[in-house]
Amino acid sequence: MKQVQVHPERCVGCMQCMLACATAHSQSKEMHRAIGEMPLPKPRVHVGAGLSGEGFPNRCRHCDPAPCLLACLPGAIFRDPESGTVLIDPDRCINCASCAMACPFGVIRYHQDWLAPAEKTIAVKCDNCIVRQQDGLLPACVEVCKTGALTFEESADALKRKTAVVARSVSAAVDQQFPPAAGVALLLEMKKSLHSLEDR
Ligand code: SF4
Ligand code: SF4
Repeated sequence: MKQVQVHPERCVGCMQCMLACATAHSQSKEMHRAIGEMPLPKPRVHVGAGLSGEGFPNRCRHCDPAPCLLACLPGAIFRDPESGTVLIDPDRCINCASCAMACPFGVIRYHQDWLAPAEKTIAVKCDNCIVRQQDGLLPACVEVCKTGALTFEESADALKRKTAVVARSVSAAVDQQFPPAAGVALLLEMKKSLHSLEDR
């Protein structure tokens, strides 16, 4: 299934994803009107600090199996059979916080939402912008992120790309330590150029 993939090394901490997410989950879907809505729309993605102090956009990974889903006794958390997205039914949620205790990524928040019964606090998290996807749109955070820190793709593809980047950087470091023979060096340069063209 396609997922919002996070690339923290590209995040500049601008928090545009949070604004876009809150707007996408508002009643009006327009930022200037959304700020006057009650309850105030809130984001499902939260930019915190990564290991080296860099921006880290944290959001639900839609795990499979999903610990939050297994922990939810009233059955408020379920998986959409078509997209595989883990969703929360606001009517069934009893605000017991079991899901937050089970989630290893700390991505579940509790607040009111216009889709929930009035004044009821419920568990809220990323829904992969499932309604926008039905309209052929990208998740709002991905659409707004200008640095490419958020992409919408299959996890396996993202992992393959990241592995290739790491492998190339490691082989570049080895090259510097143990320079190859002239002919091999030329072949490697050709390969590098080919890869950089592929990455564009
Ligand atoms: S809320 Fe947490 S445990 Fe549940 S699917 Fe998302 S990341 Fe996984
Ligand atoms: S807070 Fe709501 S969604 Fe979370 S486990 Fe309790 S009932 Fe389920």
